[in-house]
Amino acid sequence: MIVLVVNAGSSTLKCQLVQTDGKVRLMKALAERIGAPGSSMEVAFAPDFHERTVLVEGCSVPECLGILLDMLQDDPDSPIGSLDEIRAIGNRIVAGGERFSESVLVDDGVLEELTRCEELAPLHNPPADACIRLLRERLPHTPEVAVFDTAFHTTMPPKAYMYPLPQRYYQDYGIRRYGAHGTSHRYAAQQAANLLGRPLEDLGLITCHLGNGGSITAVNHGVSIDTTMGFTPLEGLMMGTRSGSIDPAIVTYIMRRDGISFEEMDRILNKDSGILGVSGLSADMRDVLAAADEGNADAALAVDMYVYRVQKAIGSFYAAMTRTDVVVMTAGIGENSAELRERIFAGLAHMGMILDRDRNDVTGQIGVNRIISIDDSPIKICVVTTDEEMRIARETSALVG
Ligand code: AMP
Repeated sequence: MIVLVVNAGSSTLKCQLVQTDGKVRLMKALAERIGAPGSSMEVAFAPDFHERTVLVEGCSVPECLGILLDMLQDDPDSPIGSLDEIRAIGNRIVAGGERFSESVLVDDGVLEELTRCEELAPLHNPPADACIRLLRERLPHTPEVAVFDTAFHTTMPPKAYMYPLPQRYYQDYGIRRYGAHGTSHRYAAQQAANLLGRPLEDLGLITCHLGNGGSITAVNHGVSIDTTMGFTPLEGLMMGTRSGSIDPAIVTYIMRRDGISFEEMDRILNKDSGILGVSGLSADMRDVLAAADEGNADAALAVDMYVYRVQKAIGSFYAAMTRTDVVVMTAGIGENSAELRERIFAGLAHMGMILDRDRNDVTGQIGVNRIISIDDSPIKICVVTTDEEMRIARETSALVG
């Protein structure tokens, strides 16, 4: 089945066309900094995936999607002859609130409920919903599925998802932990169970999605029981540009001292903090590791803090579970950085997570799901390559098919 996967963010659009039967990609498109001057979209078609750049200056996120649909329809190199060949559309939705505990086929009622979820992720959900509406107009006979980042975490118990605030904020505003990266955590957990040759339901897992955004989840008997991201994706680990958890009083203190607005404070916490804020250099872990190697003290501090916070999160979930069988590493940093994995697990051996240096080595192993702990490590450590778009495509085809 040919599935169009649409991953719309506040100023980004990532799309893929996937043939789900053979897990083959037919098209990849990426537009970043949408709305900024000179913004463009890179589009690549199978089989050679030669990138072509399309100017999308002045376009909104759904308008970029419209341009991509035109290309799929009209470009002589398009892998499909007509948009009718697209049999289903999978839309990634960041926040599904308490309402959506699994992926759903989109109809009028669902669309209405999606609109109600917009206030939970005001930057991300509205453009995604706008893309759904556009697709309903352009491909009215093609079923659309909404796949939620939060769905996997709806199994968390109240003691994990409630905040110690007056209850009326939960009752009136829905303020609670929702988590994120659900598709990735679910997939990482299942792949780790496959590697161990054991049913997921029998295992206690700690899944670590360490990318530009990052979160760690405790997965017990196949379901999420706690996760580091919270009401928004700002809570938890230190990330590329996000602070992660800090003393909440710092927020009001800085606002008072600098006389800044809510919007400005929001930007500082989401865009200027984390690895970028501490290193003063870059949000990209590769740049910061390289600078630390060259003796840059701020870069070294950023890496130290990142490692320490990941260690503490793994330790806290070890305490939250009745047993831990495996820790899974995934996403850009988790999959690719043998150096950071080595540093993280060097501090966790006393808990029974013992890395094997050779297995951890990435040489020739990028993209290979594997166990990287020593044979008799009480808790196994795995690396799993996450593939969010392929997961969404397969989930979509399962629901439609
Ligand atoms: P993601 O959001 O999953 O695409 O992950 C992006 C993050 O992964 C960025 O911070 C990259 O610097 C980081 N990353 C990718 N490859 C490596 C690597 N080989 N070593 C360290 N960090 C990496």
